[in-house]
Amino acid sequence: MMARRSATPREECVGIHLPPLRDGHLKIDWSDPMPRCGSVRVRSHTCACAPIVYELCTAGGLVHIRRTVRWSGDSRISESPWLQAGDAIRLWDRLLEGDAL
Ligand SMILES: [Zn+2]
Repeated sequence: MMARRSATPREECVGIHLPPLRDGHLKIDWSDPMPRCGSVRVRSHTCACAPIVYELCTAGGLVHIRRTVRWSGDSRISESPWLQAGDAIRLWDRLLEGDAL
C-alpha cells in the first residue's frame, strides 16, 4: 500500500494549515531573499509542522511573503515580490485559501 500524504493536521496543531491547491491558482513569483532592510516583522505564519512554512512579513513599509522549505536539517528561503500592504494581504489570503502558491 502506498503511503498517503494526509492533509489532515495533527491534533495538537493549532496553526494555519494550507488547504489543497485549487486548479488555476496564481503562481507566486518566488525569488531569492534580498537584504533590503534591517528589521522584518512577522505578522502571521503557517504551521511549523509542514515541511514548507509561509510567513507574512512587513519591512520598510512593504509587505511580502517568506517561504522556508526545510528538509533533513537544511532549509531554503524564498520571497514573494514586496507589495503594498493591501495587495500583500490579498495575496496572503489567496495563499491560505489554496488559490496561490
Ligand atoms: Zn500543524
